[in-house]
Amino acid sequence: MSAINHFLISLTSYLDSQQIELVKRAYYYAETAHGEQRRTSGEPYITHPLAVAKILASMHMDHHSLAAAMLHDVIEDTGVGKAELEEQFGVTVAQLVDGVSKLTNIEFSSREEKQAHNFEKMAIAMSKDIRVIIVKLADRLHNMRTLGPLKSEKRRRIAKETLEIYARIAARLGMQRLHIEFEDRGFEALYPLRARRLKAAVSSVRSKQKELVEHIKESLDNQVQRWNINALIIGREKHLFSIYRKMELTGEKKKRFRDITDVFAFRVIAESIDDCYRVLGAVHSLYSPMPGRIKDYIAIPKINGYQSIHTVLNGPQNIPIEVQIRTKEMDEIANAGIAAHWLYKSDDDGSVSHSRARRWVKNLLELQQSAGDPLEFIEQVKNDFFSDEIYVFTPKGKIIELPRDATAVDFAYAVHTEIGNTCFACRINNRSASLNQTLENGQKVQIITAEDRRPQALWLSSVKTSKARIAIRHALKNYQQQDAIDLGRRMLNRTLAQIGVCVDENVAPDHLRSVFEELSYKNIDELLSAIGLGKQMSTTVAKLLVPERADEISTHVESPLTIDSTDGTMITLSRCCHPIPGDPILGVMSSDKGLAIHVDTCKNIADIRDNIEKVNHVNWSPNVQGEFPVDLIINVESDRSLFAKIASRITEMGANIEKIQYKEQDPNRNILRLTIAVRNRVHLADILRRIRGMRQVEKIGRDKN
Ligand code: MN
Repeated sequence: MSAINHFLISLTSYLDSQQIELVKRAYYYAETAHGEQRRTSGEPYITHPLAVAKILASMHMDHHSLAAAMLHDVIEDTGVGKAELEEQFGVTVAQLVDGVSKLTNIEFSSREEKQAHNFEKMAIAMSKDIRVIIVKLADRLHNMRTLGPLKSEKRRRIAKETLEIYARIAARLGMQRLHIEFEDRGFEALYPLRARRLKAAVSSVRSKQKELVEHIKESLDNQVQRWNINALIIGREKHLFSIYRKMELTGEKKKRFRDITDVFAFRVIAESIDDCYRVLGAVHSLYSPMPGRIKDYIAIPKINGYQSIHTVLNGPQNIPIEVQIRTKEMDEIANAGIAAHWLYKSDDDGSVSHSRARRWVKNLLELQQSAGDPLEFIEQVKNDFFSDEIYVFTPKGKIIELPRDATAVDFAYAVHTEIGNTCFACRINNRSASLNQTLENGQKVQIITAEDRRPQALWLSSVKTSKARIAIRHALKNYQQQDAIDLGRRMLNRTLAQIGVCVDENVAPDHLRSVFEELSYKNIDELLSAIGLGKQMSTTVAKLLVPERADEISTHVESPLTIDSTDGTMITLSRCCHPIPGDPILGVMSSDKGLAIHVDTCKNIADIRDNIEKVNHVNWSPNVQGEFPVDLIINVESDRSLFAKIASRITEMGANIEKIQYKEQDPNRNILRLTIAVRNRVHLADILRRIRGMRQVEKIGRDKN
């Protein structure tokens, strides 16, 4: 029987005859369209689409996906258009095929640019229909299985792209089986020698451990039986690429290899969730569990829908035994991920893996919209979109999923954009903490908001989620415009105040218009914003507004500008000298950035301190509020416990530690560099006094540059 007939018959196990008819038509259409085209191996081209369809059928994907698989290279390779496919096979199939097709007819300046544009196109298509990515992954899988005949350069390029992008997408969608195959095949294609050597090393170790593994497995089997639980216990092997990656993490490869291979891993498939927890009890009473190593992903599934209980036991001869316990269905979902949705033919769109996948795609799309161009998009996707996840809790116990290294700001935005936009402090596990602090699994996070707060530009450097980044940028942009106008108005009025004039009260509207038009601004706001941004001197404007008293207007304004809020985007506290309320300060206008506040003794402004055109008198408003970072340098005796003591004194005083650097000077003395956040100079002085009082502290001072 021909390959296609064989395949069509196999589909009767889960598709009806009409559905199979569509797949069949798609096959013959593609066969004709590809005509005499051949793969590099010499086989007729149609063998490839058929193989892709077979992969999808093994996941029980629907008839639309299978038809799309048959046709997936038709647009790209045979010049048939999307409209034609739509006419023949309907809009769903045509859209799937178009989604996996690369952009043709466009010239790109580099391969990277081309890859980025194609990836972007696919991401948009899959946000409309998640099956696009599943068809694409199956296509890539068959290509990875048939890399052999390709030239080595092309083989390496495809392997690299698979490891960097497709393996990670598969992992993110919970498709573990696919993920492993991508990684192992990618590894073997990219580093054939290393892969072969590692394979040999692993199998040699395993043959030596064989008896011990058998022994442990038997003990586990007996124990589970003793507890009257029906469960299947299987030995589990880490896949080659994950061993390789772990070894690459540190320099001591031999030691790493031993650490990795000296772990025995088993999977237990139980019949029900109840049984999973009973198995946990059973194995814990056989070998003692290692504290802190039990993870319950049944109660709290991973972002990609993965569910299982993990524990590590202290085995015979102190060998660690990793055990994963799950039901059969959880095991299927762990292997098939998002595709399990079709496997179970559930119409329930609320299934864990499916709704999570959709959220992931939605985030992907948000990221695409916020990125400047496709190259930036694909870079961001590679860098931080595939990171591991953590789980933290709201005060009411709701679980929030975040990428690793996410901060409290990410958390605030994940809960609600408005909470992110107005947050100003947080408590982590009931202790006050900095908003920039990275969160850890299981922490309880409480965000404190105030209506008049706004997002800080500084947050952009520490947030990890695209949601937070987009919302912060958006809010800053809105505020920036208004801030520039406000600052401009304040600066202009301050200059005009020398002659007792206020722009909004004492200047005739017609005259005002003639001035902003003379200076080529469309309206007064544009003029004020230019002053606020430092593009236009307020004295020039003031002299034009009141020409008859121009002589009385000086560039050097004695009355200081009051800093009453540091939230504005146009007034920034310099990071070189970290001014805090109470410090004598100066303001420096810089084009486009507004006013930068420095401590008056800061080295960075030494050259321009006397330049009255650039430097503005400023002082702190008595009402200024907030937390201000300040750098401390502490010389201490070497004492490992000392740091903890200093840290606890600082936090007792109500200040947050934002950054710590520890430098050994000689065996007996160390230098600690800390960045802490304080309210003002009085607050700082209290803290310095407390630390200076400690016996082991030789010297403490503030670093004002
Ligand atoms: Mn293909």
